[in-house]
Amino acid sequence: MSNTCNDIDLFFKTLRESAPKRESDWRAIVLFVRNLLPRLTIYDDDKKSEIQFEICEQLIENDFSEERLEALLAMLDMYLMQTIGALELEEALAQEKRTAAVLMNEMNEMISTMHGNTARQDKRLTNFQNETVEAIQDGSRKSLIVSKVRGMFQEIIEEFREEARVLNAKAEHFRMTADFDPLLTELHNRRALDAFLREATETFARTGAPLSLMMIDVDHFKKVNDTYGHQAGDDVLRALARLVSTHAIQYDGFSARYGGEELVVVMPGMDLDRAAVKAEALRADVERYDFRVRTNGQLSETPLKFTVSVGVARMKVGWNSGDLIGAADGALYQAKNSGRNRACSAPK
Ligand code: GH3
Ligand code: MG
Ligand code: MG
Repeated sequence: MSNTCNDIDLFFKTLRESAPKRESDWRAIVLFVRNLLPRLTIYDDDKKSEIQFEICEQLIENDFSEERLEALLAMLDMYLMQTIGALELEEALAQEKRTAAVLMNEMNEMISTMHGNTARQDKRLTNFQNETVEAIQDGSRKSLIVSKVRGMFQEIIEEFREEARVLNAKAEHFRMTADFDPLLTELHNRRALDAFLREATETFARTGAPLSLMMIDVDHFKKVNDTYGHQAGDDVLRALARLVSTHAIQYDGFSARYGGEELVVVMPGMDLDRAAVKAEALRADVERYDFRVRTNGQLSETPLKFTVSVGVARMKVGWNSGDLIGAADGALYQAKNSGRNRACSAPK
């Protein structure tokens, strides 16, 4: 982290050395800064908006003189250096409002995007390049500027890989303590679920893409506790958690502990019919599961059979995440009332 000031120094040094003389080039630089800025994990969102706002102000001025560019760079220097000088890594992490899981994804994405390992990543790089090219389409030195921008991009990314590595390790620790259920470590906790559902609801409102959710509750779980003890009950829950996350991973579902022995899988992009099939597959797998109680390190000779009831619902227009959970809960209630060990769907 102590390198970060140097990274930024290097970044601006490179930027200054390639200080463009023309309006189109200037725009390319502004675009570059604009594109790069959101990727920097070391600034808080306020600082990013502040810088972006200033860049917009500069654009509105419509003055593309060298003096203006100098002023802009000096201003950015000031903002960035001030921020980095003041913020320690822990603070930066603490200020990160989004969940650490999201943070980690972003960092992974940031690293992988830079290297264009896959077709998708290549596409992102190409988009970035195209945007820059578009901005300088009237210039005659496109290739020069683009390769410079790409060069700078690559260079700073190498530096930030190290930062990302350190952050990753911290984020992993943070993730385990902040976003995951301490008992059922494969599953997200309620806090992470709420954050995920908030975003999923926004995406649904924006795109209308299907969004489904299943709620899973162990049948007669009190009896398991009463018969085999609370410890065995916990082990059953752990086994169920593993099973649920194994299922959810297969279709990019987000699995979480809703509370007690109730688990939830959020299924973005999944319509109600498909979600019902997934729920039934999970239910059947639980029924088949060969769970053995462990006492003093010894596994029981006969399996402890347990089952779950599942309620499935899909998000509807005008609903919030509470409505979606409520609908899944209603379907779960129906599954319990109609004999348990079954998956029921809310009305389409
Ligand atoms: P039903 O089929 O109606 O769901 O019956 P149930 O006995 O499972 O009833 P309910 O879901 O209302 O009860 C949940 C029980 O689960 C109560 C509580 O003792 C137990 N439980 C909740 N969380 C945990 C936990 O973390 N560990 C263990 N061992 N038991 C838990
Ligand atoms: Mg329950
Ligand atoms: Mg139960």
